[in-house]
Amino acid sequence: MARLAQTAGLTDIQEEILATVRTFVDKEIIPHAQTLEHGDTYPADIVEGMKEMGLFGLTIPEEYGGLGESLLTYALVVEQIARGWMSVSGVINTHFIVAHMLKQHGTPEQKEKYLPRMAAGEVRGSFSMSEPELGSDVAAIRTRAVKGDSGYTINGQKMWLTNGGTSNLTAVLVKTDEGADKPHQNLTTFLVEKPEGYGEVLPGLTIPGKIDKMGYKGVDTTEMVFDGFEIAADQILGGVSGQGFRHMMDGVEVGRVNVAARACGIAIRSFELAIDYAQQRKTFGKAIAEHQAIAFKLAEMATKVEAAHLMMVNAARLKDSGQRNDVEAGMAKLIASEYCAEVTQEAFRIHGGYGYSKEYEIERLMREAPFLLIGEGTSEIQKTIISRGLLREYQSRG
Ligand SMILES: Cc1cc2nc3c(=O)[nH]c(=O)nc-3n(C[C@H](O)[C@H](O)[C@H](O)COP(=O)(O)OP(=O)(O)OC[C@H]3O[C@@H](n4cnc5c(N)ncnc54)[C@H](O)[C@@H]3O)c2cc1C
Repeated sequence: MARLAQTAGLTDIQEEILATVRTFVDKEIIPHAQTLEHGDTYPADIVEGMKEMGLFGLTIPEEYGGLGESLLTYALVVEQIARGWMSVSGVINTHFIVAHMLKQHGTPEQKEKYLPRMAAGEVRGSFSMSEPELGSDVAAIRTRAVKGDSGYTINGQKMWLTNGGTSNLTAVLVKTDEGADKPHQNLTTFLVEKPEGYGEVLPGLTIPGKIDKMGYKGVDTTEMVFDGFEIAADQILGGVSGQGFRHMMDGVEVGRVNVAARACGIAIRSFELAIDYAQQRKTFGKAIAEHQAIAFKLAEMATKVEAAHLMMVNAARLKDSGQRNDVEAGMAKLIASEYCAEVTQEAFRIHGGYGYSKEYEIERLMREAPFLLIGEGTSEIQKTIISRGLLREYQSRG
């Protein structure tokens, strides 16, 4: 992209990483995305390529074998990858969130145990808050861990685990009996090690199978059923129970920047396809781009791409500077996902009937965009977070 979605003030290393990823996306992802997605095929070769580039350890500190890069670098990489195929960014996203939670909240032993193998892509992370009866209302979690003499026993059902079958380390948020008044203070994150695959993968732990989705194919999304699953107390993230909600919300905050970045990537690709098609397709004796109605669509799409990119970059930089970014990440996620849905829709319209054909990439992008309105918190939840933050900040003195 020559002009849109540029980022000022990047270091030489960031520029170099992005150039490498962009080339990888153009050569190894875009040409295969349609076929893999239509076949619901896991992109094993692409994942191997990402491992070789060190992308699984992009944000993991150098002392644990990672590249020690910032959230901004990660978000810009994700934007590029989603421009190629969103499912590939889904493979690394949950991994990145779990690595972030371990880096920020893990005990020294947990960091030592997992981060080096996560950086190498040997341990791959997924995370689980949602259950069949709740998603937005995280504090209402029912899956329960009960403390016994030699550890905890977990019972309950989790839902919507991205990479649930292909990961081997899942950060799971469950209810524990802390006796606290507020429900969210009775939640604990467990680090569940498990083999990859489906069925009863460990005694008392079943991954039933892939959920058949509208889009976002190739990457697996699963349930996770606990039935008397035994786990040691030292698998509690950070070693202390009752802190899980805080840990997960920190993970989700960086996850929201990541979802915003994905939305930017899909919107960029939709714009690229639309502006190309609009110059080739002729109606009434001229290219459709020469009809003002279409030219204006392109102008509006590009403006939305630019605005979303800048807000996403701002939210990432804020977090990198050590400040809380709940409001800014919420705003970036809200605007980027809503604009992404609008931009893909306009690109689809510009393609006329061909946009409805599975031969054209825009058909896939149209099915990918809606997920971003839901994942890591719906638009309504982002508005709740943003307004709460603003009301805290702008308290009335009257
Ligand atoms: C493909 C896919 C992958 C996913 N991957 C993961 C994952 O890896 N890990 C994980 O934990 N979860 C994952 N999720 C779950 C996702 O985070 C939830 O679906 C999402 O948070 C919404 O929750 P819900 O589906 O239960 O909707 P609900 O919470 O039931 O919401 C339904 C509707 O009501 C609205 N609503 C709810 N509460 C309010 C309110 N207070 N005010 C106004 N409106 C409200 C919502 O905005 C929405 O429109 C995934 C979901 C999908 C579809």
